[in-house]
Amino acid sequence: MSFKAEYIWIDGTEPTAKLRSKTKIITDAPAGLDSLPIWGFDGSSTNQAEGSSSDCVLRPVFSCPDPIRGGEDVLVLCEVLDTDLTPHPSNTRAALAEVAGRFAAQEPVFGIEQEYTFFQGARPLGFPEGGFPAAQGGYYCGVGSDEIFGREVVEAHLENCLKAGLGISGINAEVMPGQWEFQVGPLAPLEVSDQLWVARWLLYRTAEDFGVSATLDPKPVKGDWNGAGAHTNFSTKAMREGYEAIITACESLGEGSKPLDHVKNYGAGIDDRLTGLHETAPWNEYSYGVSDRGASVRIPWQVEKDGKGYIEDRRPNANVDPYVVTRLLVDTCCTALEK
Ligand code: ADP
Ligand code: MN
Ligand code: MN
Repeated sequence: MSFKAEYIWIDGTEPTAKLRSKTKIITDAPAGLDSLPIWGFDGSSTNQAEGSSSDCVLRPVFSCPDPIRGGEDVLVLCEVLDTDLTPHPSNTRAALAEVAGRFAAQEPVFGIEQEYTFFQGARPLGFPEGGFPAAQGGYYCGVGSDEIFGREVVEAHLENCLKAGLGISGINAEVMPGQWEFQVGPLAPLEVSDQLWVARWLLYRTAEDFGVSATLDPKPVKGDWNGAGAHTNFSTKAMREGYEAIITACESLGEGSKPLDHVKNYGAGIDDRLTGLHETAPWNEYSYGVSDRGASVRIPWQVEKDGKGYIEDRRPNANVDPYVVTRLLVDTCCTALEK
């Protein structure tokens, strides 16, 4: 018998890395991560190596059923290594693995809200040729063909994520026509990040069959149209048990150089999206507040009421690297909570 394993990795495209994948035929039915061999690719075609020394190594880090091919075929997310088997400079997962391991006792957990926009040709779905649709207001969580564009793709993507066994927790139509969101989590830092990358790959791959492309561009239409973010919900065991830890986490994110350290790593083009308009806080001013969708970090009302729960960092762009945002949040908040 032969089986298909789709090896997926994150490339070295600047300033925002892209997903790449290729298929490996294997003769034994895939039996978990350890049964999947390391593999390689031409790094000179992905901005990860020079042509004269082009080999890069793919090491499987997460696998799941392939919902598109079905049967026993699998998707295999990989990290990229140099040929000496040390992490490649483009490999941001390795640094997260270290930080997540160091703070594992605090049991950090994330839920990431991935916003994105469908395009057909040069226009977002729902944008008429040579013009603009009705102003924003009715599209968010809307219903009806005058408000909703791309639902069939969204439903197919959701179904594929569920068949793959990913920890997807919901979907909704967003504020701009053609803009949508799915959420992954709550899960531990490496799990949420690996699964978000696979869910992104499934989004592009599912949309491909509909002749539609999906983009994580944080500001796909300039002007009075919402950008696309990746609100990152975060808690530790202490935060899930008491309010003092919630406040400690919020305060820690505002200390010294932390606001800038975070924001500059929250996705390319962050200042185009975090303008202070369209439910964002200005990129250069840190704030937090209960129920406040104009703050950098929101404490949901229910969390204040219950006196425990989680916080939402609203700053990350849709194109953020989840390995980076989860590492920064764990590092900053868990260091403060440890004191
Ligand atoms: P919003 O009101 O901001 O649109 P969503 O419902 O889209 O919120 O997303 C909330 C996210 O928070 C979900 O992904 C959910 O899994 C996650 N979440 C819930 N509880 C926790 C928690 N204790 N720690 C971290 N994330 C959590
Ligand atoms: Mn949401
Ligand atoms: Mn949100």
